Amino acid sequence: RAKALGGGHLTYQPEMSAGLAERMQIAENLSRAMNTGELELYYQPKIRLATGTVSGAEALLRWNDPECGLISPAKFIPIAEARGMIGTLGKWVLREACRQMKAWQELGLQFPGRLAINLSAQQFEETGVADNIQEIVRAAGLTPACFELELTESALMGNVQRAIEVMHTLKRAGFALSIDDFGTGYSSLAYLKRLPVDTLKIDISFVRDMLTVRHDYNIVTTITGMARSFGLRSIAEGVEESAQAEALLALGCDEAQGYYFGRPEPAHVFAQRWL
Ligand code: C2E
Ligand code: CA
Ligand code: CA
Ligand code: CA
Repeated sequence: RAKALGGGHLTYQPEMSAGLAERMQIAENLSRAMNTGELELYYQPKIRLATGTVSGAEALLRWNDPECGLISPAKFIPIAEARGMIGTLGKWVLREACRQMKAWQELGLQFPGRLAINLSAQQFEETGVADNIQEIVRAAGLTPACFELELTESALMGNVQRAIEVMHTLKRAGFALSIDDFGTGYSSLAYLKRLPVDTLKIDISFVRDMLTVRHDYNIVTTITGMARSFGLRSIAEGVEESAQAEALLALGCDEAQGYYFGRPEPAHVFAQRWL
């Protein structure tokens, strides 16, 4: 809170300047981090519930700041968005994912299925996003068939017509598309039917207590049923126990991801265990 004094001067409340200062510090350090090896992608497997086999993996961004230690993407991605840095950061993520994919190929390791990349709402809204993504993948000597793009409902709700067009462009190019955190946004059925998506990703907030909270169980049931009736695949995130995996399988959920199967891990650890 800034208080205006008599002469129009501003005095900043200490708690406000701390929050702001921290955010500014993070933004400043983040642009440096992209060039100093402080950013890293971790990889978490996705598992087919019916067979227990790996169907792919999700790339998750990690930032190890020399002063602050590990900073959560849930904290710095919104800051990157607010400071107009998400385009650059998003490109870094995609280039790094491509570099790693290529490195695994060159080592003769077979990557199972697709590698999923998260796109933030603001990144998706940038002009030329579909071209930029295709260009990065092409420049790396890879094809879109290697990748899946995870989009949140909020990324799709701003300008619906445009979102549908961009998604069709990406689909035609060969990317798979999924709606992340499904159930937490505002997608209507009418709208869902027009989106060229492959997978609905059930948000962790419903999966976490699905065995103890009836309402959450019902939501998970509804989403898997909805996916089935639309001809889409469903995947549950945040599966931490075998009982959840069993219940999800019984509901007809196709895939799962979570600590029960494997945590997000650095590339070499992931490769050792899963490739
Ligand atoms: P998300 O896309 O919904 O990712 C799932 C989050 O759940 C990840 O948190 C993952 O580490 C965590 N998780 C996975 N399995 C379990 C589990 O069994 N239990 C629990 N409690 N958590 C689990 P993380 O890695 O901290 O990422 C947080 C969010 O940051 C992501 O949510 C995503 O929205 C964003 N994010 C991460 N990497 C990127 C990126 O490269 N680009 C963009 N735009 N956003 C990213
Ligand atoms: Ca995700
Ligand atoms: Ca989520
Ligand atoms: Ca999320």
